[in-house]
Amino acid sequence: MELTTEQFIHDFEATLKEQKQITIADAIPEELFLALAKTTRQYYTPLWLDRKHALQKREDKIAFYFSVEFLPGRMLETNLLNLGILDTVKDAFTQLGVDFDAVKESEHDMALGNGGLGRLAAAFMDSLATTGYPGFGNGLRYRYGLFKQRIVNGYQVELPDSWFGSIGNVWETRKDHDIVYVSFFGNVYMTDAGDGKLKPVYNNAQVLRAVPYDVPQIGFGNGVVNNLRLWDVEIPEEYELNYPTIEDRRRVEDITAVLYPDDSTDEGKKLRLMQEYFMTSAGLQTIVKSYLKMGLPLERIYEKVSVHINDTHPAVAPAEFMRILVDDYGLEWDVAWEATCKTMSYTNHTILSEALEKWHTGLFSYVLPRVYQIIVEIDNRYISRMSAQGVDYETIENTRIVRNNQIHMAHLAIIGGHSVNGVAKLHTELLKEDTLRDFYKISPEKFNNKTNGIVQRRWTQIAAPHLSQTIDKWIGDGWRSDIHELRKLNDFVDNPDAQADFWQVKQESKQRLADYIEKTTGVHVNSQAIFDVQVKRLHAYKRQLLNVLHIIKLYWDIKDNPNADFTPRVFIFGAKAAPGYHFAKSVIKVINELANLINNDPAIGDKLKVVFLENYRVSLAELIIPAANVSEQISLASKEASGTSNMKFMMTGAVTLATLDGANIEIKQEVGDDNIVIFGMDKDAVYRHYESHDYYSRGIYESNPVIHRVVNSLVDGTIPNCQSEGNEIFDALITYNDEYFLLEDFQSYVDAQARIAQLYADRSRWMHMSLMNIANSDKFSSDDTIRQYAQEIWQLHLPQA
Ligand SMILES: *Cc1c(COP(=O)(O)O)cnc(C)c1O
Repeated sequence: MELTTEQFIHDFEATLKEQKQITIADAIPEELFLALAKTTRQYYTPLWLDRKHALQKREDKIAFYFSVEFLPGRMLETNLLNLGILDTVKDAFTQLGVDFDAVKESEHDMALGNGGLGRLAAAFMDSLATTGYPGFGNGLRYRYGLFKQRIVNGYQVELPDSWFGSIGNVWETRKDHDIVYVSFFGNVYMTDAGDGKLKPVYNNAQVLRAVPYDVPQIGFGNGVVNNLRLWDVEIPEEYELNYPTIEDRRRVEDITAVLYPDDSTDEGKKLRLMQEYFMTSAGLQTIVKSYLKMGLPLERIYEKVSVHINDTHPAVAPAEFMRILVDDYGLEWDVAWEATCKTMSYTNHTILSEALEKWHTGLFSYVLPRVYQIIVEIDNRYISRMSAQGVDYETIENTRIVRNNQIHMAHLAIIGGHSVNGVAKLHTELLKEDTLRDFYKISPEKFNNKTNGIVQRRWTQIAAPHLSQTIDKWIGDGWRSDIHELRKLNDFVDNPDAQADFWQVKQESKQRLADYIEKTTGVHVNSQAIFDVQVKRLHAYKRQLLNVLHIIKLYWDIKDNPNADFTPRVFIFGAKAAPGYHFAKSVIKVINELANLINNDPAIGDKLKVVFLENYRVSLAELIIPAANVSEQISLASKEASGTSNMKFMMTGAVTLATLDGANIEIKQEVGDDNIVIFGMDKDAVYRHYESHDYYSRGIYESNPVIHRVVNSLVDGTIPNCQSEGNEIFDALITYNDEYFLLEDFQSYVDAQARIAQLYADRSRWMHMSLMNIANSDKFSSDDTIRQYAQEIWQLHLPQA
């Protein structure tokens, strides 16, 4: 949009006066933020309305992305950038003498997600708007986002993240006219509806009100505003007498109180199931209602609507859709089933079996009695259909939905939809040949790959403005709207002046991070050192512990040979552990105690520093990632479905140190073998161990003196104050046979790390690598990923202008 600084200053001052009855000079950053956000709302609101009316008028097909997690982080800069007024606003603030950064930092991260999965959903919202496709989000409006992490005495402490704070969510709009009702519990029986059909009658159900709050998703430079709809729960007035105490009310409000802080297993099962059904049912009900307003036949709803199931949490969708079509609107089962399958599609995010959701039939039928009946019917019909097609008994048993009193949600999503995708090439291959191979045998046409992506704008233009200006200087600013133009940088990867410029920019980012580290942890780090970064959720498969073992080795190397050459390193960690994940929390404790030991040892000095930054989240990632020299992507091959932080690091010029896992393989293809450092077993080697059961970690420990000494350091008092955590980790590695093969990959990792040090010492070689990474990162734009979803899975069309 067109906006002069004068016009903006006028609007901003008026809003501030109206909202807070003060002038700029008297306002604190929070007040300035609120006024700026409200001013921004005035700018996008007409676009939002136009979009809604245009889509209604043209009756375009719309995709709805159902996800229990959305992790957008801060919205202010994205909204300003995408409206095309970020620079105008920054200029105006400079004129007004207001510190823009202080204002932007008073926005609380919108943290309605755990990690990569939620971040991907948020990226897709941005990219749908930016590409112009009609794609809306559907999720939950948690009052508390992911917990806030504090480190106390080296331990993780979890605090509630009351992100609404005193000002609420400034971006959302409550939509009372789209309220719907969702039922739980009670019992259901079928009666004759008089026309030969059976109709369900519900007794003693708990009916709750679902209230939508819409959050705008603004496209980059195109005036498009899509919708992210988040549902909140309320008790309908007519049922208030059922909830006489505060406790009774709270139990209901809990449905939208907290995001489950564990992205791999499910706790609080009943509440979790209620959350999943609540947002799925509310979303589907409003979708059907708004479709019917067009006056088109319900059985052809798939021509105007796609529903995407992001991981299994909304996988009850096919059954709930059947309930709506058959029970609420009277469609014949077979007609409804065809419409359902053509509407639904599903993304699988993991092959870790503990993360594939299953519900016990007892719990499920108690919470959702009618949906349970429908699932059983879907399952029975599936079995008959497969038997009739000659599918063998075992395959049917392995793929059916209800088995041994468990409801397999992934199976429901696959059977009730037309598309299943993995999130990186290797991951999709593993789904086909292992995790979901029986489904692949039956319906190979459903399977496809969509490698994850990142919103390049957030990780370059917003997180790394100086890097972006330097890119402009060398190749012009066309890359800002067409990411593929980044490839022009390939012409300059060996240009000494370009290398010097980009080196300088990286140094500035490192200094900014060094200042933050000193301010928040008191540790002084030298920005000339290699900044070696591993930031992601703490999980055994991601192998932060392998990084730790290597650091212990370096510690002994320096102690043994204080005069040897050593390229200084700063190891930077950021990671939240699920509150109930004991092992992961022990790793955090050990990292912090190891950091204490190393950072305070004068014999180590500036050669080695270890830093754990608390409360890793999107806004912190924006500070850390552009400052990295080395991107640690060291999961056990086959376990990381894709990874996306690997892409963010690549795009901002870090060199990837990685196993051949997830999208690391595709990064390697893009940058070439010489511009990435690969180590460790590949997926085939890992699977060979699984098949031959020949791994014996104690054997490695006993025969390799380096590993022996490093592992013993966990338990012999070398690292103080973590005896029990050290023992727990020792047991995982030695007594319980090292489930993620750290000891097997250790030597290869050490060698790769030595290679990193060697490469870094040769600055022009290093800058060649760094620039090759930036120049060839365009493949990982989520704009392109979403175009593939839109065209290949959802069959959307770009609205004609
Ligand atoms: C990108 C991102 C992730 C995902 O990181 P991976 O290393 O791919 O697991 C997690 N959390 C935040 C805050 C992120 O920005």
